[in-house]
Amino acid sequence: MKQGLFLVVSAPSGAGKSSICQKMLELCPKLNFSISYTTRSPRPGEKDGKDYYFVSRENFIRRVGRGEFVEWVENFGNLYGTSRKTMEKHLAKGKDLLLDVEPRGAKKIKKVFKKGIFVFILPPSRADLMKRLKRRGHESKEVIKTRLAQAESELREISWYDYVIFNKDLDKAVEQLKAIYIAEKCRKAILAREIEAFMK
Ligand code: 5GP
Repeated sequence: MKQGLFLVVSAPSGAGKSSICQKMLELCPKLNFSISYTTRSPRPGEKDGKDYYFVSRENFIRRVGRGEFVEWVENFGNLYGTSRKTMEKHLAKGKDLLLDVEPRGAKKIKKVFKKGIFVFILPPSRADLMKRLKRRGHESKEVIKTRLAQAESELREISWYDYVIFNKDLDKAVEQLKAIYIAEKCRKAILAREIEAFMK
Protein backbone atom coordinates (compact mmCIF):
# COMPACT_ATOMS: atom_id res chain seq x y z
CA MET A 1 0.00 0.00 0.00
CA LYS A 2 1.13 3.53 -0.76
CA GLN A 3 2.09 5.82 2.06
CA GLY A 4 -0.10 8.89 2.54
CA LEU A 5 1.25 12.30 3.36
CA PHE A 6 -0.19 15.40 4.87
CA LEU A 7 0.19 18.97 3.82
CA VAL A 8 -0.32 21.54 6.56
CA VAL A 9 -1.01 25.08 5.40
CA SER A 10 -0.87 28.12 7.69
CA ALA A 11 -1.07 31.86 7.09
CA PRO A 12 -1.86 35.04 8.93
CA SER A 13 -5.49 35.97 8.42
CA GLY A 14 -6.07 37.84 5.19
CA ALA A 15 -3.28 36.11 3.25
CA GLY A 16 -5.72 34.30 0.97
CA LYS A 17 -5.17 30.83 2.40
CA SER A 18 -8.77 29.63 2.13
CA SER A 19 -8.96 30.42 -1.61
CA ILE A 20 -5.64 28.68 -2.21
CA CYS A 21 -6.75 25.56 -0.30
CA GLN A 22 -10.09 25.47 -2.08
CA LYS A 23 -8.47 25.66 -5.54
CA MET A 24 -5.85 23.14 -4.56
CA LEU A 25 -8.54 20.63 -3.57
CA GLU A 26 -10.34 21.16 -6.88
CA LEU A 27 -7.12 20.53 -8.79
CA CYS A 28 -6.01 17.51 -6.76
CA PRO A 29 -8.93 15.10 -6.35
CA LYS A 30 -6.78 12.63 -4.43
CA LEU A 31 -6.04 15.20 -1.78
CA ASN A 32 -8.62 15.14 1.02
CA PHE A 33 -9.43 18.06 3.26
CA SER A 34 -9.14 17.50 7.00
CA ILE A 35 -12.38 18.98 8.29
CA SER A 36 -11.75 20.62 11.64
CA TYR A 37 -14.22 21.06 14.47
CA THR A 38 -15.01 24.61 15.51
CA THR A 39 -17.30 26.47 17.87
CA ARG A 40 -17.48 29.53 15.63
CA SER A 41 -20.66 30.19 13.64
CA PRO A 42 -20.71 29.33 9.96
CA ARG A 43 -20.04 32.24 7.59
CA PRO A 44 -22.35 32.72 4.60
CA GLY A 45 -21.79 29.87 2.15
CA GLU A 46 -20.01 27.60 4.63
CA LYS A 47 -21.42 24.12 5.08
CA ASP A 48 -21.34 21.85 8.11
CA GLY A 49 -19.33 18.72 7.32
CA LYS A 50 -17.58 20.39 4.40
CA ASP A 51 -15.79 23.51 5.65
CA TYR A 52 -15.94 22.59 9.34
CA TYR A 53 -17.96 20.52 11.76
CA PHE A 54 -19.73 23.35 13.56
CA VAL A 55 -20.38 22.34 17.16
CA SER A 56 -21.32 24.00 20.42
CA ARG A 57 -18.70 24.82 23.03
CA GLU A 58 -20.09 22.06 25.30
CA ASN A 59 -19.85 19.52 22.49
CA PHE A 60 -16.29 20.60 21.71
CA ILE A 61 -15.17 20.38 25.36
CA ARG A 62 -16.69 16.88 25.62
CA ARG A 63 -14.62 15.85 22.58
CA VAL A 64 -11.50 17.33 24.17
CA GLY A 65 -12.21 15.20 27.24
CA ARG A 66 -12.49 12.09 25.08
CA GLY A 67 -9.12 12.84 23.48
CA GLU A 68 -10.64 13.25 20.02
CA PHE A 69 -8.27 16.01 18.90
CA VAL A 70 -4.66 15.78 17.83
CA GLU A 71 -4.50 19.44 18.70
CA TRP A 72 -6.91 22.18 19.56
CA VAL A 73 -6.62 25.91 20.19
CA GLU A 74 -8.66 28.91 21.17
CA ASN A 75 -8.49 31.60 18.52
CA PHE A 76 -10.32 34.91 19.00
CA GLY A 77 -12.76 33.32 21.44
CA ASN A 78 -13.53 30.30 19.25
CA LEU A 79 -12.24 26.77 19.61
CA TYR A 80 -10.72 24.86 16.69
CA GLY A 81 -9.55 21.24 16.70
CA THR A 82 -8.08 18.66 14.34
CA SER A 83 -9.76 15.27 14.47
CA ARG A 84 -7.36 12.50 15.42
CA LYS A 85 -9.66 9.93 13.80
CA THR A 86 -9.65 11.74 10.43
CA MET A 87 -5.88 11.96 10.37
CA GLU A 88 -5.26 8.39 11.47
CA LYS A 89 -7.91 6.96 9.14
CA HIS A 90 -6.49 8.72 6.07
CA LEU A 91 -2.91 7.93 6.87
CA ALA A 92 -3.72 4.26 7.57
CA LYS A 93 -5.37 4.03 4.14
CA GLY A 94 -2.41 5.71 2.44
CA LYS A 95 -4.47 8.80 1.53
CA ASP A 96 -3.21 12.37 1.41
CA LEU A 97 -4.61 15.12 3.58
CA LEU A 98 -4.64 18.90 3.40
CA LEU A 99 -4.91 20.67 6.73
CA ASP A 100 -5.66 24.36 7.19
CA VAL A 101 -4.38 25.03 10.67
CA GLU A 102 -2.80 27.99 12.47
CA PRO A 103 0.86 27.69 13.61
CA ARG A 104 0.26 26.54 17.22
CA GLY A 105 -1.80 23.60 15.95
CA ALA A 106 0.63 22.92 13.11
CA LYS A 107 3.52 22.71 15.58
CA LYS A 108 1.62 20.19 17.71
CA ILE A 109 0.83 18.08 14.64
CA LYS A 110 4.51 18.06 13.73
CA LYS A 111 5.39 16.99 17.26
CA VAL A 112 2.77 14.21 17.41
CA PHE A 113 3.26 12.69 13.94
CA LYS A 114 6.92 13.63 13.43
CA LYS A 115 6.20 14.11 9.75
CA GLY A 116 4.16 16.24 7.37
CA ILE A 117 4.89 19.05 4.93
CA PHE A 118 4.46 22.47 6.46
CA VAL A 119 3.70 25.39 4.17
CA PHE A 120 3.36 29.02 5.22
CA ILE A 121 1.49 31.43 2.98
CA LEU A 122 2.36 35.12 3.00
CA PRO A 123 0.74 38.09 1.33
CA PRO A 124 2.99 39.96 -1.16
CA SER A 125 4.37 42.39 1.43
CA ARG A 126 4.14 43.37 5.06
CA ALA A 127 2.36 46.60 4.13
CA ASP A 128 -0.17 44.54 2.20
CA LEU A 129 -0.70 42.25 5.19
CA MET A 130 -1.36 45.23 7.47
CA LYS A 131 -3.81 46.67 4.95
CA ARG A 132 -5.68 43.37 4.67
CA LEU A 133 -5.83 42.83 8.43
CA LYS A 134 -7.26 46.31 8.97
CA ARG A 135 -9.77 45.92 6.16
CA ARG A 136 -11.28 42.66 7.47
CA GLY A 137 -14.76 43.20 8.94
CA HIS A 138 -15.89 46.26 10.83
CA GLU A 139 -14.13 45.63 14.09
CA SER A 140 -13.06 47.99 16.80
CA LYS A 141 -9.51 49.35 17.10
CA GLU A 142 -8.93 46.87 19.95
CA VAL A 143 -9.81 43.86 17.78
CA ILE A 144 -7.59 45.14 14.98
CA LYS A 145 -4.74 45.63 17.45
CA THR A 146 -5.12 42.05 18.75
CA ARG A 147 -5.22 40.77 15.19
CA LEU A 148 -2.01 42.61 14.26
CA ALA A 149 -0.29 41.24 17.38
CA GLN A 150 -1.43 37.70 16.53
CA ALA A 151 -0.18 38.08 12.95
CA GLU A 152 3.21 39.20 14.28
CA SER A 153 3.52 36.18 16.56
CA GLU A 154 2.38 33.83 13.75
CA LEU A 155 5.00 35.29 11.39
CA ARG A 156 7.75 34.34 13.82
CA GLU A 157 6.74 30.68 13.38
CA ILE A 158 7.86 30.71 9.74
CA SER A 159 11.28 29.64 11.03
CA TRP A 160 10.34 25.96 11.34
CA TYR A 161 8.05 25.63 8.26
CA ASP A 162 9.37 23.74 5.22
CA TYR A 163 8.06 26.04 2.48
CA VAL A 164 6.86 29.60 2.03
CA ILE A 165 4.54 30.85 -0.71
CA PHE A 166 4.10 34.56 -1.43
CA ASN A 167 0.53 34.94 -2.56
CA LYS A 168 0.99 37.62 -5.21
CA ASP A 169 -1.34 35.91 -7.61
CA LEU A 170 -3.86 33.20 -6.70
CA ASP A 171 -3.19 30.89 -9.66
CA LYS A 172 0.56 31.14 -9.20
CA ALA A 173 0.29 30.44 -5.48
CA VAL A 174 -1.85 27.36 -6.16
CA GLU A 175 0.62 26.24 -8.81
CA GLN A 176 3.42 26.51 -6.26
CA LEU A 177 1.49 24.55 -3.64
CA LYS A 178 0.74 21.88 -6.22
CA ALA A 179 4.42 21.73 -7.20
CA ILE A 180 5.36 21.20 -3.55
CA TYR A 181 2.79 18.41 -3.26
CA ILE A 182 3.92 16.66 -6.44
CA ALA A 183 7.59 16.85 -5.48
CA GLU A 184 6.90 15.54 -1.99
CA LYS A 185 5.01 12.57 -3.51
CA CYS A 186 8.23 11.63 -5.30
CA ARG A 187 10.32 11.48 -2.15
CA LYS A 188 12.18 8.22 -1.77
CA ALA A 189 10.81 7.74 1.75
CA ILE A 190 7.21 8.16 0.55
CA LEU A 191 7.81 5.66 -2.27
CA ALA A 192 9.71 3.18 -0.07
CA ARG A 193 7.16 0.38 -0.45
CA GLU A 194 6.86 0.79 -4.22
CA ILE A 195 10.63 0.85 -4.58
CA GLU A 196 10.92 -2.31 -2.47
CA ALA A 197 8.28 -4.09 -4.56
CA PHE A 198 10.01 -2.95 -7.74
CA MET A 199 13.37 -4.26 -6.57
CA LYS A 200 12.06 -7.72 -5.66
P1 5GP B 1 -11.43 30.79 10.36
O1 5GP B 1 -12.30 31.05 11.53
O2 5GP B 1 -11.08 32.06 9.61
O3 5GP B 1 -11.98 29.72 9.45
O4 5GP B 1 -10.05 30.21 10.90
C1 5GP B 1 -9.30 30.91 11.81
C2 5GP B 1 -7.96 30.23 11.99
O5 5GP B 1 -8.13 28.95 12.58
C3 5GP B 1 -7.21 30.00 10.69
O6 5GP B 1 -5.85 30.41 10.86
C4 5GP B 1 -7.27 28.50 10.48
O7 5GP B 1 -6.12 28.01 9.82
C5 5GP B 1 -7.31 28.02 11.91
N1 5GP B 1 -7.85 26.67 12.06
C6 5GP B 1 -8.86 26.08 11.40
N2 5GP B 1 -9.04 24.82 11.84
C7 5GP B 1 -8.12 24.61 12.80
C8 5GP B 1 -7.79 23.49 13.63
O8 5GP B 1 -8.37 22.42 13.59
N3 5GP B 1 -6.76 23.67 14.50
C9 5GP B 1 -6.07 24.84 14.60
N4 5GP B 1 -5.07 24.88 15.47
N5 5GP B 1 -6.36 25.90 13.84
C10 5GP B 1 -7.37 25.79 12.95
